Amino acid sequence: MNSDTAERWRRELDGWAPADITVGVIGDPVRHSLSPRLHQAAFEAMGINGRSLPFEVPEGDAPSALDAMRSLGILGLSVTMPHKEAVVALADGVTATVAALNAANCLVNQSGHVSAHNTDGDGLVRSLHEEASFDPAGRRVVVLGAGGAARSVIEALGRSQVADLAVVNRNQVRAQTAVLVGGPAARVGQLDDVDDAELVINATPVGMDGRPGLPTPAESLHAGQTVVDLVYQPLVTDWLEKAAQAKASVMNGVPMLLHQAAIQIELWTGQPAPVAAMRTAVAAHMTPPGAAPG
Ligand code: NAP
Repeated sequence: MNSDTAERWRRELDGWAPADITVGVIGDPVRHSLSPRLHQAAFEAMGINGRSLPFEVPEGDAPSALDAMRSLGILGLSVTMPHKEAVVALADGVTATVAALNAANCLVNQSGHVSAHNTDGDGLVRSLHEEASFDPAGRRVVVLGAGGAARSVIEALGRSQVADLAVVNRNQVRAQTAVLVGGPAARVGQLDDVDDAELVINATPVGMDGRPGLPTPAESLHAGQTVVDLVYQPLVTDWLEKAAQAKASVMNGVPMLLHQAAIQIELWTGQPAPVAAMRTAVAAHMTPPGAAPG
């Protein structure tokens, strides 16, 4: 075991008031992560004496992070890049979703037994129900992209009994691989599929700050569709703006971010997450369009 990591984390934890529950987020970079704020807001609203810290863990150091988690009795860790795959092999147990995706974004430590979970896809599906009043069951869906976020979303939508799940990606081999996690409704699709889709999800970085462009032609978006952009920086991409102009229902990436974190809180505490308080916390740290960054 790399005791340096445990010792470093112990020192970081010593700087905080003692808590009944300690969680955190591992990644590199991790300082920018909103997860600790979301966790902290949840604990406060739940009346739990909890603390959440960002732990910078360089690529390749996930084993020592899990050792430190066990030896320090840390209840939970959110997992972000570049460790989402590495933690799968290091956990004592994985969910069926993690096994299918070979990627996890959440660890739960129960008396030294660490289980790996992936809440990204379920976070997106829950946000569709709760923030967009959209039930994906029986619907025609297009997912744009076949990377980590897309695969999580495809897997969760596959479990949600969608009628048709077209995966549209630049790299066709990656599209075919992503289809494998989406269940019987999933297939490789084309941009033309967007015309007839009831739900269109952008899971590519196109439209992010510094990555201008549209993931589909604006003309393919129309009223009656629900259009979701997983991008949340900016909060409103050009593509979402075009979708709103076309009278589609639109949702940005913040609700997925919020609900994947809420599901993590539920895994750690066994209680319903205080979504409203967490929403307020995330909104306080997002820059609305046109506003100066805080
Ligand atoms: P990733 O693993 O790197 O995958 C990127 C995907 O986008 C690949 O399928 C890639 O296609 C495609 N792509 C990249 N550039 C493209 C371009 N110029 N034109 C067309 N397709 C392009 O990334 P990721 O982790 O899945 O993240 C994707 C997006 O989701 C990011 O914007 C990220 O911020 C967002 N995200 C949001 C949340 C949330 O909670 N809201 C969570 C996770 C991720 P090829 O296979 O052809 O290269």
